[in-house]
Amino acid sequence: MAQAAGSRCVFLGAPGAGKGTQAKKVAESGEASGAPIAHISTGDMLRAQVSAGTELGQQAKSFMDQGQLVPDEVIIAMVQERIQQPDASSAWILDGFPRTLPQAEALDESLGDSTPLSDVIYFAVPEAELLGRLTGRRTCADCGAIWHVTNKPTKVAGKCDLCGGELTQRSDDREEAIQERLDAYRAQTAPLLDYYRSKDVLREVDANRSPDVVFEELLKLMQ
Ligand SMILES: [Zn+2]
Repeated sequence: MAQAAGSRCVFLGAPGAGKGTQAKKVAESGEASGAPIAHISTGDMLRAQVSAGTELGQQAKSFMDQGQLVPDEVIIAMVQERIQQPDASSAWILDGFPRTLPQAEALDESLGDSTPLSDVIYFAVPEAELLGRLTGRRTCADCGAIWHVTNKPTKVAGKCDLCGGELTQRSDDREEAIQERLDAYRAQTAPLLDYYRSKDVLREVDANRSPDVVFEELLKLMQ
């Protein structure tokens, strides 16, 4: 994976398109080959900063406690801080951000002209497939492992293979919630495709294939 050194990358796509899973795989393969690529999941990062009580975490929490969205500036400050860490010095993947055009513009501005995004990879998956992927997802209540009723079933229905815990469906994986997430994606995130296309950084991957095939193509795209 040395070829991905220097990548400053955004993984873009609908919920269920596989961005997080693939970002994790790319980061692991980078680590294994001695060319680290930091996987920056803004959702995980936000939760970690809030629970660690950092200054940015406290700022974020004050908005969340009032039921408000965390402002873009706070997320961007977290991203900026995160990409200064040693493990992100050669390459990184942003997963879960930006989701709106103003966020994309603010991110570009914060990166400046000397270290702009090198690739924005769009995970293309038909909507019917996304629905099936998301509604079938089950999470282990004990260890957090993620399963799928058809794509990654457990040996015993409803029980985690790893720890025997009870499988549950996250509230945001229920069908009404999913339709809302997909609608929000279409309204807010899909316009980013044109934005990044106009900047000539958009690459598209057909993510309606097996994870291994998608992964191989990603490595090629990130060269
Ligand atoms: Zn488990």
